[in-house]
Amino acid sequence: MSSIKRPSPIELTRLEAVARRLNGAWSELTAVEILRNTFAGSLFIKNPVLVSSFGADSAVLLHLLSLVEKSAEVVFLDTGFHFDETLTYRRELTRALGLTKVRVARVDPLAAKRHDALGRLHRDQPDACCQLRKVNTLDRHLRMNDAWISGQRQAQASTRLELQCVEVDRLRGKLKINPLAQWSEDEIATYKVVNNLLEHPLASEGFLSVGCAPCTSPVIAGEDSRAGRWRGSAKLECGLHDRTHIIASSESAA
Ligand code: SF4
Repeated sequence: MSSIKRPSPIELTRLEAVARRLNGAWSELTAVEILRNTFAGSLFIKNPVLVSSFGADSAVLLHLLSLVEKSAEVVFLDTGFHFDETLTYRRELTRALGLTKVRVARVDPLAAKRHDALGRLHRDQPDACCQLRKVNTLDRHLRMNDAWISGQRQAQASTRLELQCVEVDRLRGKLKINPLAQWSEDEIATYKVVNNLLEHPLASEGFLSVGCAPCTSPVIAGEDSRAGRWRGSAKLECGLHDRTHIIASSESAA
């Protein structure tokens, strides 16, 4: 069970109005300007946190963050099933960018013991596994934050085409900021080269999106970058970004 308090309808209406306002005000801003505004402290956003998977493209958003505020809070969800390369990359990239507040949020050990004592839930019930190891872990961590920032982009997958810069996470009652929402694959690749960013060690092996080891495979030419996640199953998202519970502000505008 998730530990987060569900938002009231009144609170959701307030958040939707804020998201509409910010999307309008920020429509011409660059990603770094969006991050700067997000961390500037305002009536609307007081305590944001950036959630990073330290995956194949994560260095871009983390580098932008390091230009704005090296002591900004970053959280990494440790599911217990990450590739060793990802854990090493998290340490090395954090050091290279000089980020000082990267926290690791771990799965509740009692819940893991109760629901997945053998560590096999991902084989038969991947949705339940993601709920236990990712969604509930993020819920617990986000209790103290009023907004979170993600590296999601429209170009990553067909499920993300409607993604906007500012959304309302209706499940958690938080604002969600996506500074890279409109960045293309080419822009991401160019930014990495121009800024000489450390690459995830598995990127060169065809892992264009890196999740948990049992559920991630390399992609082949022509596939979208998330095609290697839960390959062979109908599952497309882990639930952190459940789009059935996200309101993009312009969609909800009257
Ligand atoms: S990606 Fe796979 S191993 Fe990781 S939490 Fe989801 S189902 Fe479990």
